[in-house]
Amino acid sequence: RVVYVNGEYVPYAQASVHVEDRGFQFADGVYEVCEILDGNLVDERRHMARLERSLSELRIDEPMSLRSLGVILRETVRRNRVRNGIVYLQITRGVARRDFAFPSPGDAPGVVCFARSLSRKAGDAKAAVGVAVITLPDIRWKRVDIKTTGLLAQSLARQAAREAGAYEAWLVDEKGYVTEGASCNAWILTGDGKLVTRSAESGILRGITREVAMETARARGLHYEERPFTVEEAKSAREAFQTSASGLVMPVVKIDGVAIGNGKPGEIASGLRAAYHGVAEVSTPHHL
Ligand code: PLP
Repeated sequence: RVVYVNGEYVPYAQASVHVEDRGFQFADGVYEVCEILDGNLVDERRHMARLERSLSELRIDEPMSLRSLGVILRETVRRNRVRNGIVYLQITRGVARRDFAFPSPGDAPGVVCFARSLSRKAGDAKAAVGVAVITLPDIRWKRVDIKTTGLLAQSLARQAAREAGAYEAWLVDEKGYVTEGASCNAWILTGDGKLVTRSAESGILRGITREVAMETARARGLHYEERPFTVEEAKSAREAFQTSASGLVMPVVKIDGVAIGNGKPGEIASGLRAAYHGVAEVSTPHHL
């Protein structure tokens, strides 16, 4: 396995960054995770557009053109012979003598990229039975709209989920409304057949899978509403599911131990999962 680190493809065991990389000291960096489907990148344009926005919100220089970053993504996928899985791209503000304030302009951002195989069969098998989630207070900072590598709150939440025998943690704001999962967006289907997911205007990351799932819903003639929903509403929903690039549309069958609907993956969620790649942009060629 090889990893792209600041201009070079190096063996996994030797892939390292400097101790004064600001990503390491301050989580001063952003990242993206793209799905790889049969060797192709899924929803690349949207992921790259979000990456650009994350960089700009943090005033991190773009290390190179999006087209060049696209070359690195593809080359990393190719060199690791990943057919199905994910590719991870991270950009930090780079190496500088430790100081909270930004280093002087001109210091180069740090770029890291790796690809990893994931079994599609295993993902589909998980989706066929559905997953359990727990709910926890959302203790993250207020700029969750930026996809930063500052993921300690999410890590604590995921670990709590694991220890509770659940797959994911759904986070809950101070008013009792679900924001999103530790690394996914949260959805429910109401009793009257409406999909509901929180608006990207507040409290969540604007998930790419969320956006494409919305398009998939529209293509299937389904109605959705962008509004907050409470844990109680979720527990009495007809269906629940979550979306992310690595998990796609994943049915949720249990929230805090309470079975959702009949306790099996919902028809609508399963239908969205099956239709997803027909709506997503799946690409090898450069079109940026
Ligand atoms: N919300 C959070 C907090 C995430 O970390 C992620 C993905 O990692 C998502 C939502 C889903 O985003 P996407 O569909 O772009 O993978």
